[in-house]
Amino acid sequence: MGITKTDFMRGMQCRKMLWLDKHRPGLRVIPPEIQERLDAGNDFGDRAMGMFGPFEEMTVYRPGTRIPDKKKMAEKTKQHLLAGTPVICEAAFLNYNNYCAADLLRKTEKGYDLYEVKNAPEVREQFVKDAGFQVYIISRCGVRIERVYIVIHGPDEENPFVPVDVTDRAKGYAPWVNEHIWGLNRMQKEREEVQVEVGEQCTCPYECWYYGYCHGQTTPPQAQLSMEEYI
Ligand code: SF4
Repeated sequence: MGITKTDFMRGMQCRKMLWLDKHRPGLRVIPPEIQERLDAGNDFGDRAMGMFGPFEEMTVYRPGTRIPDKKKMAEKTKQHLLAGTPVICEAAFLNYNNYCAADLLRKTEKGYDLYEVKNAPEVREQFVKDAGFQVYIISRCGVRIERVYIVIHGPDEENPFVPVDVTDRAKGYAPWVNEHIWGLNRMQKEREEVQVEVGEQCTCPYECWYYGYCHGQTTPPQAQLSMEEYI
């Protein structure tokens, strides 16, 4: 069991959140509108796969489920990288069991450009961190990432995909990821429940689904960011 991008971001918001995800996920209370969104999938992301024309998608599910088979996805991605496929979507990478799936990789002369798709009207720092995590894992798998873009939702609904170059900022997060990923991985395997005092992290940047458990079932205040953007 390694760390995924979602694990990392949740663990960096609160270590206890990640521990509960791994050991007591039944305590989560997911707001109905978020659950609907999770069930429906990400239409914007699905549409964005075609933003550069024909593409190959790496998603492979475990038989009879909608659970991604990470190993098979990583193997399929390797084959497409070797074949020089120009546009690879949901490109999956495993490094010491740490995992990420990039929304879109587009071939360049010397490597690939990475596109992280977010259904949001502007780039938030959290998105750049997401991309930074992916650059870290993908680079450790020996693939050269040149430019890094966050694709936001622009005003033109005919062509809403607006890539914003965040290369330097995203690559700058690599040391930060390296500093925390191994400790989070150890922590998530601890048998005893990790103890963290409630505080600002319970709604910032995202509302925590364990709010009720940690706060004795009171209603959370407004979170700073929409969970739709998180998904
Ligand atoms: S409610 Fe707060 S303390 Fe509890 S897991 Fe969530 S973020 Fe951590």
